[in-house]
Amino acid sequence: RVWNFSAGPAALPEEVLRQAAEEMLDWHGAGMGVMEMSHRGKEFMSIAEAAEADLRELLAVPASYRILFMQGGAIAENAIIPMNLLGDRKVADYVVTGSWSQKSQKEARRYAGVNIAATSEAGGFTSVPAMRDWQLSDDPAYVFTCTNETIGGVEYPFEPDLAQIGRAEVPVVADMSSHILSRVIDVSKYGLIFGGAQKNIGPAGLTICIVREDLLGRAMPLCPSAFDYKTVAEAGSMYNTPPTYAIYIAGLVFQWLKRQGGVAAMEARNIAKARLLYDYLDGSGFYENRVDPACRSRMNVPFFLKDESLNDAFLSGAKDAGLVQLKGHKSVGGMRASIYNAMPIEGVAALVDYMKAFAARHG
Ligand code: PLP
Repeated sequence: RVWNFSAGPAALPEEVLRQAAEEMLDWHGAGMGVMEMSHRGKEFMSIAEAAEADLRELLAVPASYRILFMQGGAIAENAIIPMNLLGDRKVADYVVTGSWSQKSQKEARRYAGVNIAATSEAGGFTSVPAMRDWQLSDDPAYVFTCTNETIGGVEYPFEPDLAQIGRAEVPVVADMSSHILSRVIDVSKYGLIFGGAQKNIGPAGLTICIVREDLLGRAMPLCPSAFDYKTVAEAGSMYNTPPTYAIYIAGLVFQWLKRQGGVAAMEARNIAKARLLYDYLDGSGFYENRVDPACRSRMNVPFFLKDESLNDAFLSGAKDAGLVQLKGHKSVGGMRASIYNAMPIEGVAALVDYMKAFAARHG
């Protein structure tokens, strides 16, 4: 297998894929594979319950939060969130730190008044505005954040804890699609955490929502029932047929994470991986990362060759060396290495070795 730096869908732990392959035709003696099981049968119910319990344990999700397995991805959540959380308020606040939160606030305008509480647009989305500079509206339904901007490679270096600015009553919503389970978080600081699974968790098609119970039951009448958090919670994420195979793989990933020592152990590895790559970038003179060092993502590392005419040669040489999906997002250009939980430090070291050799040949 190659070292796969895709931003998502992304590399999964090899152990998980091997186990899934072994169980493909016959899951635990059921005589059938997970894809073929009824979502209401006892076999699949046990898979879904274990996945939920393991996720709850990994993130220390308090009992007052519900974990929902949904569909539609994070982009659908951009509409589902205002439909569920606006309630009788008029406005939701958005902190815009890159392409994904920008997209979120645009979509929310279809359902809610939107106040941009803070934005790092003037600096080209290379940092996260400090909380003391957030201009919250008087009575927002929530404050939306994207705590890791996958395209820009910008990650919050702090948890958006509104108590620090005297606004603890406002629920924080966080799109954690691309760094959930990569670092320890305090779930109690959020009203809603959500993310698509296809980066740090499992296959595309599954959306994870962790929602504080008191926020259920506020959906607009026009909200589709299948996207009403209360309906989904009451049905144990089985109001409609859930993405069963994606939940099963996510469950295997959660078990794998527990065997790795859990989220704190993963965070330590992620710090070491990111440091290896950023330290090399900063010292090289040949490559550069343009994000404020305090806000650099541990998961998504965009970088540029100072001589961009070498981009194609860099990518084709990388492919020959077994390093793939390094091309940067089209809106940013350059390169991007996504180094999620499933990427071992050996993969990052292989990338750095290749980058050194390429720089030596062309520098
Ligand atoms: N938000 C973030 C932070 C992302 O990285 C992505 C990536 O795809 C999305 C939202 C969109 O998710 P989806 O394509 O699952 O709707």
